[in-house]
Amino acid sequence: MIEPSEHRPSQAIVDLGAIRHNLTIIQARMQPEQLLYATVKADAYGHGAIQISKAALEAGADGLAVATVDEGIELRQAGIQDVPILILGLTDPRGIAEILHYHLTVTVSGTEFFEVAYQQLQRSGELALLDECTLNFHLALDTGMGRIGLRTTAEVRAFAEAINAFPWAQWEGVFTHFATAGGGPEAYIQTQWKQWQSLLQAVPDTVRYRHYANSAMALWYDQAIPSDIVRYGIGIYGVDPKDQLPEGDWPADLAVNQQDAFKPALSLISEIVHVKKVTKGSKISYGATYEAQEDEWIATIPMGYADGWLRRYEVFPVLVDGQACPIVGRINMDQLMIRLPKQYPVGTTVTFIGQDGHLNNHVSYLAQQIDTIGYEILTTIGKRVPRIYLDEAGKVKE
Ligand SMILES: *Cc1c(COP(=O)(O)O)cnc(C)c1O
Repeated sequence: MIEPSEHRPSQAIVDLGAIRHNLTIIQARMQPEQLLYATVKADAYGHGAIQISKAALEAGADGLAVATVDEGIELRQAGIQDVPILILGLTDPRGIAEILHYHLTVTVSGTEFFEVAYQQLQRSGELALLDECTLNFHLALDTGMGRIGLRTTAEVRAFAEAINAFPWAQWEGVFTHFATAGGGPEAYIQTQWKQWQSLLQAVPDTVRYRHYANSAMALWYDQAIPSDIVRYGIGIYGVDPKDQLPEGDWPADLAVNQQDAFKPALSLISEIVHVKKVTKGSKISYGATYEAQEDEWIATIPMGYADGWLRRYEVFPVLVDGQACPIVGRINMDQLMIRLPKQYPVGTTVTFIGQDGHLNNHVSYLAQQIDTIGYEILTTIGKRVPRIYLDEAGKVKE
């Protein structure tokens, strides 16, 4: 992780007060017996996994969900102990020693995981680990996402039988994932739900958690039988899973202070580092694709595609002094140029994501403009951009 830089003004500001606000909304909608797992994969959707995990646990989350073993280890090494960390993706069983050592809960798609894991421990002379630690696991069920998991009742029955050969493994949960809760045909949710109910009949009663909800399922399609665990991701970060925007006239956000609405936690800002007046006909940037239509004020901002401001984001205006300013010419790896309505000094704030005056470059608004999803914009913010955290009082957290 690159430390916050005093040498380059581009930074992602993460408002932990907004994270807490969003969690409060989420918790108010949940049943008391449901568990909340904060999904913090991909560095907490670009927000910083350690800080977000700590904030979510302080706000009452019961567990964490990540995508990979390495993401889980990062959290344990940061001192996050005594809470379950569920790895949502499939894991190489040969990493069993570390999985046990860090008490990570794995997701499996069959019993082969346990066979290979056992052989690995045998080979490395670490079988004793199985006496000291339990391996908790969840079985994935594929009810129509077509990604991971068992697909038929016969497969689940066979699994339930074969797993008895591995008494050192604790079958703690089963889960599935819905393909259309965040967009697509709604009828397909019922198709998957039926398949889920049918597969569950082959799951032994001793399996404690049966869960299916991500943010979208929890928000809109909570079923008669609640998901024992809610794997809440995007909502925690204050972004709607379908990129629906609060009421208002976009890009002006008239409803930013709605009490019951999610608040986006992340703003991406930088500053003008160079400014000049160019004469009519001057070309700007690679390929000389932009030509000044008159004498124009052009500013240079140290933000580029290596910071996650991808070349196709050229169409998004940025915000300067409460006004929308177009990006002109191609976005470079480390810099880009914008056109100003008048001269602004070096050091003037430039907002890429977030609020400036009553304009708001809401991440969902940006996503809609280029036919992508908020998730993608957030998770591609570059590693080079330091994350700065604001505490509940809006002060920079050391
Ligand atoms: C990423 C993920 C989630 C979280 O999804 P959101 O839409 O961000 O709430 C939940 N479950 C699984 C299996 C996932 O992969």
